[in-house]
Amino acid sequence: RASRKFHPEDTIVKVGNVEIGGNNLVMMAGPCSVENEEQIMTAARIVKKYGATMLRGGVVKPRTSPYAFQGLGMEGIELMKKAKEETGLPIICEVMSISQLHEFGPHVDMIQLGARNMQNFDLLKEVGKTNIPVLLKRGLSATIEEWLMSAEYILAGGNENVVLCERGIRTYETAYRNVLDLNAVPMIKKLTHLPIIVDSAHSTGKYWMVEPLGMAGVAAGADGLMVEVHPEPDKALSDGPQSLKEDVFKHLMENVEKIANVL
Ligand code: PEP
Ligand code: MN
Repeated sequence: RASRKFHPEDTIVKVGNVEIGGNNLVMMAGPCSVENEEQIMTAARIVKKYGATMLRGGVVKPRTSPYAFQGLGMEGIELMKKAKEETGLPIICEVMSISQLHEFGPHVDMIQLGARNMQNFDLLKEVGKTNIPVLLKRGLSATIEEWLMSAEYILAGGNENVVLCERGIRTYETAYRNVLDLNAVPMIKKLTHLPIIVDSAHSTGKYWMVEPLGMAGVAAGADGLMVEVHPEPDKALSDGPQSLKEDVFKHLMENVEKIANVL
């Protein structure tokens, strides 16, 4: 079902009033984690001000350490809804389990399945039984074939609203967090009809690399970008080093528009 052979036209996934795929360039932005009301509302206003079309914010976080900030849970969902009410931006939040899917799913416009859950097959099957739009991130060291098979699990259940997200893969290099696999963009376009978003935040881990790699992703044919925006990255409870403050985000949005215009 994911294969372009059996479905030659590009799939367009509708998320609220936003269309992902086709000729649209969708910008998803927002903090790594929802931390408190002031933080998410300020971030949402920045995201809206410079023209992004979707608001991201994690309320459950797959942290390496169990002692790191784990997210606000349902309280965070309520804050995301408040940010949506004010800005009109559709919201996307990660779920890590079947129970979270049922708890948060009805409140959000799109769910994110994170890199660490790309092969959580029970969760993929359960998402397949719904028709909620889903952003399926590539696993930490997943091959293209494994990633597409995970998409297949969701599609096989009848949920056709699948969008892929290249978020960098683990290599021997340690100078940056991950390596953005730009090859994946044209390869995914060749093999499937599903839209693909490039996350140049988690793939680099450094705020000053987010714009150049985001531009490269768009030039390679991505249907949009996901980036992290925080009013005060130095104080962020997760992923501060790769989070963009207002002026850096503004610069990215202006340059992405330039590149989109020449394509
Ligand atoms: C995130 O989007 O904040 C996140 C945890 O991403 P990934 O699953 O790609 O690491
Ligand atoms: Mn993050």
